[in-house]
Amino acid sequence: MQRRIRKHRIKPYRREQYEGNREKLPGRCVEKLFHAAGSMFIDALFPPRCAVCGMILPLKEKMICRKCAADLPYVGSTYCLKCGKPIDSTEREYCSDCETHPHRYEEGRAALLYEKGARRAIDRLKFYNRRESVPFFGVCLNKLAAEYFPRWKPDCLVPVPMHPKKRAERGFDQAALLAEELGRRTGVEVREDLLVRQRYTGASKKLGRASRRKNLRGVFAVDDDADIPFSVVLIDDIYTTGATMDEAGYALQKAGVRHVFFLTVCIGRGQT
Ligand SMILES: [Zn+2]
Ligand SMILES: [Zn+2]
Repeated sequence: MQRRIRKHRIKPYRREQYEGNREKLPGRCVEKLFHAAGSMFIDALFPPRCAVCGMILPLKEKMICRKCAADLPYVGSTYCLKCGKPIDSTEREYCSDCETHPHRYEEGRAALLYEKGARRAIDRLKFYNRRESVPFFGVCLNKLAAEYFPRWKPDCLVPVPMHPKKRAERGFDQAALLAEELGRRTGVEVREDLLVRQRYTGASKKLGRASRRKNLRGVFAVDDDADIPFSVVLIDDIYTTGATMDEAGYALQKAGVRHVFFLTVCIGRGQT
């Protein structure tokens, strides 16, 4: 018996029909189909996990599970206009830290408070190299970028550099990963060559404000031969006292950068 071959009528391709909408080009559809099939295969081998708790995500949930998403500590609507730390009163413009200490950057913002799930996700990334949180953090940073980059007009993103010895110990640099992720999403160039960490400082987590600043003094430098941009956004995972941002900002300004801003995924509440 002869099998009937069903012929699909292919509509003639008309460019004007798709003008201005590349997503609908027939070639693009086939490309997307292959891409989707490829991602399904990858997903079957490495199922996507929640950026916070690391559990395998149910099919309809993306990047973060519903339970973790509901519990994330976002920085609310009242925050310091300088550093982005949450403040209690709507009548104040700056946090007590920024009111009493001048900073070496113009302005900065963070997406989340360094507590609850956000803290767990950052710690999983830093100490256990669990990178499933990076795309989610990229989305968080990108939301801030959409709000502030039109005004900040950055020429480049600069990850706060890690000392090469520490990078070798850890095997990766989380600030560089975050900057690359944000660079991909915004199209802003990432410059890892600009700022160098010239001294190994060790952990400064347990140090107080004064000791932390002393420990970091002169730690960053800009490469003499580097092309100096006009406006820079520093990228890091956490902002706590601002000592790191101040030192990095100081080194950039000394080298001729006119505007220094920062974006971090998390920010601490206190002044420690
Ligand atoms: Zn979760
Ligand atoms: Zn502040």
